[in-house]
Amino acid sequence: MAKFKAIVIEKAETGTKAALTEFDEANLMDGDVTVCIEYSTLNYKDGLAITGKAPVVRRFPMIAGIDFAGTVEASSHPAWKAGDKVILNGWGCGETHLGAYAKKARVKGDWLVPLPASMSAREAMSVGTAGYTAMLAAMALERHGLMPDQGPIAVTGAAGGVGSTTIAILTKRGFTVHAITGRPAEADYLKGLGAAEIVERKELAAPPKPLAKERWAGAVDAVGSTTLANLLSMTRYGGAVAACGLAGGIDLPTSVAPFILRGVCLYGIDSVMCPLPRRKKAWEALESSLDRQKLAAMTREITLSEVIGIAPEILAGRVRGRIVVKVA
Ligand code: NDP
Repeated sequence: MAKFKAIVIEKAETGTKAALTEFDEANLMDGDVTVCIEYSTLNYKDGLAITGKAPVVRRFPMIAGIDFAGTVEASSHPAWKAGDKVILNGWGCGETHLGAYAKKARVKGDWLVPLPASMSAREAMSVGTAGYTAMLAAMALERHGLMPDQGPIAVTGAAGGVGSTTIAILTKRGFTVHAITGRPAEADYLKGLGAAEIVERKELAAPPKPLAKERWAGAVDAVGSTTLANLLSMTRYGGAVAACGLAGGIDLPTSVAPFILRGVCLYGIDSVMCPLPRRKKAWEALESSLDRQKLAAMTREITLSEVIGIAPEILAGRVRGRIVVKVA
């Protein structure tokens, strides 16, 4: 069987080590669909896996990369045949199952969703796990009943991948968005995505009060910790917050006050094990909910050989928008 280039994480004397190396196709894991990967992306979780900063990888050796778009090469799964264009997000790829930073992946057909008809593989990965998570968060706020006329929505980690795509999605769906960022120098970029106001991250950095002045009808949070606690205490009566990230910390120093005195709801967003029907709905909605020009403006392309060097940058909050990785 053929060998191909892949980013492989191995156990090292201390911690783990990632390297771009040759991988033997014979060592791909079991699965009923083999996919030729065209594009992947660099997500925050990929940064954690490659640098070893968090125990994301639970099988060694591991091919890193949690998402891909590509073409089915071979399939014994009834839903897929050779030539089909597919997307994969999560399901443990890059964590417990060999992942996306490689020419090929062998996965379960049940994990795949069809590439939306109007999207290229590159566009789909420009959306990637960050954009698909942003869509899940927007859907959670809408299921809650939030409507554009109920007031502005706050988006934290605004200049990052989840934040940037959330701003573009929510504004396309008619919402007014306030972008909360630690990088006010990115104000023009954030306004270009549709943000109506730029709020400095430090306004949500103080120890949170149980209840603060009501500012936003809802929020999408990629940061966690004190930021999320402040968001909750600033959410208007009956509002909702969708929590999807931990870029600022995994803790949540809040009280029950926003929940029991203002009826605020906190929705958890998980993209990894999200059931297939909701994933398909999210990808279908993404086709019409994301302006392609904005998507292009927030995207930068790199090659497989650049991934390991850039991984620490995403953890340091220095990456703007989305990074797609050209694999093919
Ligand atoms: P990015 O690094 O692209 O974005 C994170 C952003 O958070 C940064 O750009 C920065 O935005 C802000 N930030 C970084 N560090 C801090 C800090 N210490 N305090 C406050 N804000 C900070 O990552 P992604 O957008 O790819 O992912 C964001 C988060 O969402 C991650 O925690 C990731 O693990 C999580 N995630 C969760 C998913 C799920 O299924 N639940 C799926 C995908 C991602 P700015 O400079 O504008 O302030």
